[in-house]
Amino acid sequence: MCFYPRVLQPLYRAYIIVLLTLVMTAVSWPGWNRIDAAVVEETIRIAIVKSASEVTVAGDGLLVTNEKGDALVVSLPVTVTSAKGGLLVEGKRYQRLHFSAPVAVLVNNKPYRGRAELSVADKGILVVNQLPLEEYLVGLINCEISSAWPIDAVKAQAIIARTYAVNRKMARSGLPYHLESSVMDQVYEGSLIEDSRSRRAVLDTTGQVLTFSGAVIQAFYHSSCGGRTEASENVWGASLPYLKGVECQYCLTSPTGTVWEYKLSLPEIEERLRAGGHKIAGLYDLKAGSSNSRGRLKQVILLATKGGGAISGDQFRKAVGYGAIKSTRFTVKNSNDELSFSGSGNGHGVGLCQWGAKQRALDGFAFGEILSYYYPGTELKKLSDIR
Ligand SMILES: [Zn+2]
Repeated sequence: MCFYPRVLQPLYRAYIIVLLTLVMTAVSWPGWNRIDAAVVEETIRIAIVKSASEVTVAGDGLLVTNEKGDALVVSLPVTVTSAKGGLLVEGKRYQRLHFSAPVAVLVNNKPYRGRAELSVADKGILVVNQLPLEEYLVGLINCEISSAWPIDAVKAQAIIARTYAVNRKMARSGLPYHLESSVMDQVYEGSLIEDSRSRRAVLDTTGQVLTFSGAVIQAFYHSSCGGRTEASENVWGASLPYLKGVECQYCLTSPTGTVWEYKLSLPEIEERLRAGGHKIAGLYDLKAGSSNSRGRLKQVILLATKGGGAISGDQFRKAVGYGAIKSTRFTVKNSNDELSFSGSGNGHGVGLCQWGAKQRALDGFAFGEILSYYYPGTELKKLSDIR
C-alpha cells in the first residue's frame, strides 16, 4: 500500500501536523535542555549563606533528610536555627540537613537548583548549594553580565565562569564548598534570573574550558579595564604566562560601564582607613603615587599628622571601598578638603574585560577569538578530554 496518497487526505494531514507539533514542542521544551545539561556529571558546591542564625527552606515536593539519610516529616516552610553545635528544627537537633526538590529549593525565598545542605560552621549556619556545574552557569550569567549582550560575549562569559569554577573546585577539593557566591569568587543568586539566552550560551559551549599547557587556567575576569588589562603579578604577586595584560580600547566605547567619579571628604576617608585597620590621624591631603606599566596606581600617598605615608593602590581600594574606588586607575583632586576621584575601569583588571568582550562581539569576533585575545596562548578544550 502506498502511504503517500494518504498523506494528502485531510484527516491524515491533521494527524501528521499534530504529531509534528508535539515533537517540535518536546524538542524545544526547556526541560529537555535541563536534561541535556544534567548529562554533564560535573557538580559544583557553592556557599550561598554563611554565618546565619536562622534560615528558612521551602519548595514544592521538598524532601528533607538528616545526617543519617532519614527522611523527616516537617511543616513548610522549614525554619532552621543554629543552637550550640547543631541545627534546630521544631525542637529537634540535627548535625546536618539536606533539602532537595524536583524543580528548585527555596532558601530564604530564593530558588536554587540541585540540593541545599545545611550544617553548622564557626559563626552560624552554612548553606551549600550542590548542583550540576552547567546549571550553575545558566543561573550565573545574568549576575555577571546581561544575557542580552551579543551572544558571543555571553558564550565567552559562560566559558570563563566554567573555567574559573573548575579551577577553584580542583584547588579546594576536600573543603566544604568550592566557591563563594559573591564577588570574592563569582556572583550567584540561584535560578531566578535564568533565561533562554544564558541557557543557550551554556549549552552551545557545554563542557568547554580554557587551558594552558593542558591545565585548566585561573580565568580571572573583571567588569572593565579602562584601556589596558592588568598583569597578574601586579595584583597577586604571581606571574602567569596567560595573564600578562593586553591593550583594550574596546571597553572605552561604553563609558557607562567604564568611567567613574566619586567624591569623599578627608574625614570620611580617614574614618574608612581607620576602620580598615590603618593607624592614621589628622589626614590633611592625599596624592596619587607612581603608576605601573599597565597604567594603574602602585601607591597612594597619605599626608597626615600621624601614620601617614604610602599604601598600595589595592590597599586603598580595599579600605575605602571597592564600590567607591572602582579601580586603581584614577586621578584625584582636592577642593576644600573634598577629594574628587576620577577613574576608568571597574575591578582588578586581570584577564577578560567584560565590557571589552561585549564590544569585540559587537565588532563581529567569535567567542574563541575573544578568549584567545584576553588570555594569550590558551586553548579551548572539553573538560572530558583533559581528565
Ligand atoms: Zn577593557
